[in-house]
Amino acid sequence: MLQLDLHPTGRHFLQIPGPSPVPDRILRAMSLPTIDHRGPEFGALGLKVLAGIRAVFKTQHPVVIYPASGTGAWEAALANTMSPGDHVLMYETGHFAALWAKMAQRLGLSTEVLAWSGTDDVLPNAPGWRRGVQADLIEARLRKDTERKIRAVCVVHNETSTGVTSDIAAVRRAIDAAGHPALLMVDSISGLASADYRHDEWGVDVTVSGSQKGLMLPPGISFNALSPRALEAMKTAKLPRAFWAWDEIVEMNRTGYWPYTPNTNLLYGLSEALDMILGDGLDNVFARHQRWAAGVRAAVNAWGLPIQCADPAVYSPVLTGVVTPVGVDADALRRLIHERFDLSLGTGLGKLKGRMFRIGHLGDSNDLTLLATVAGCEMGLKLAGVKLAGSGVQSAMEHFAGLVAQAPLMKAA
Ligand code: PLP
Repeated sequence: MLQLDLHPTGRHFLQIPGPSPVPDRILRAMSLPTIDHRGPEFGALGLKVLAGIRAVFKTQHPVVIYPASGTGAWEAALANTMSPGDHVLMYETGHFAALWAKMAQRLGLSTEVLAWSGTDDVLPNAPGWRRGVQADLIEARLRKDTERKIRAVCVVHNETSTGVTSDIAAVRRAIDAAGHPALLMVDSISGLASADYRHDEWGVDVTVSGSQKGLMLPPGISFNALSPRALEAMKTAKLPRAFWAWDEIVEMNRTGYWPYTPNTNLLYGLSEALDMILGDGLDNVFARHQRWAAGVRAAVNAWGLPIQCADPAVYSPVLTGVVTPVGVDADALRRLIHERFDLSLGTGLGKLKGRMFRIGHLGDSNDLTLLATVAGCEMGLKLAGVKLAGSGVQSAMEHFAGLVAQAPLMKAA
């Protein structure tokens, strides 16, 4: 018998919280011939993407672009500003915050991890993974640090493992209220270009981000947005660094070039993504993500399942974590949905493995993509025998139909 092992018909639904679907317009831009990275055309491309990405971070200061995944940019942030044994205060809101702390330890830093210590009925093993950063805990800890040993405060803006955001301006206020000189480092790998973010206004010293989320690019480039204080800290920081060193890159970037071979075709893609995002306007981009997130939450509420984020003030516009009933393996459910409906959902990470799944609603999406996603989840939940309180599809339709008149839609490509 003829074995048919073809790619399923129609488009795959890539609804994990990054990598997000790459628009055709960006894919086409990346298919241009690779050019000489020391030639004149490249310099113009370099200058264009460096200026555009500053606008997305909302900064006047340098943004370093690395040919690396987000993990590389995490390392770069620490390696450029810290010295062996320096004490850093990390705040654990989820799996990615925990991984960044682990990396800091591996780099030879002394790490102290703060977390919310209340109790939680829905996820008793991960109460702090349902809430954003509590800035008052940071302020209290910094006030106790009379010897000013803490060199940096590190927080995650949009915890991709949970669907919880954190109020970065509040963290800045907490550091200032304590009169503490620590640097503020923020991971906005999955927040940038989907959720409101203001590097300069919020007084962030290093923001770390990546290409494969709100920027709608494939994985492979990542960023460090800097502040003047971060550049000052670099001058005395002693952790070993070579490839990640900001100084040479920032210097060569002045003319649009890099000290090594940058990934040219991803930069073509970045140039196109910046045209799309800035052409549309960041406020429209943020409003669209809020609208999708509210539609997906309407569906989860109608199913009667808990949204992982327990605090509506910090719901993520990028993804929604859905907690499955005790006894329902969320990964088996995800597998079933993938096999039957060609829909990929995010897995539960770390201590939440099997207890939740994540619906990504970011980047190149629209109301109907999300309705289809909700429909795929709903059918899968029913097939898995989960008793639902009501129809999430119906609620999401009502949400999208009700808001359609006011909402800014993506401009035609
Ligand atoms: N931080 C956050 C918040 C993330 O979502 C991710 C990846 O999803 C990372 C860090 C790690 O980035 P990467 O996988 O690109 O190395």
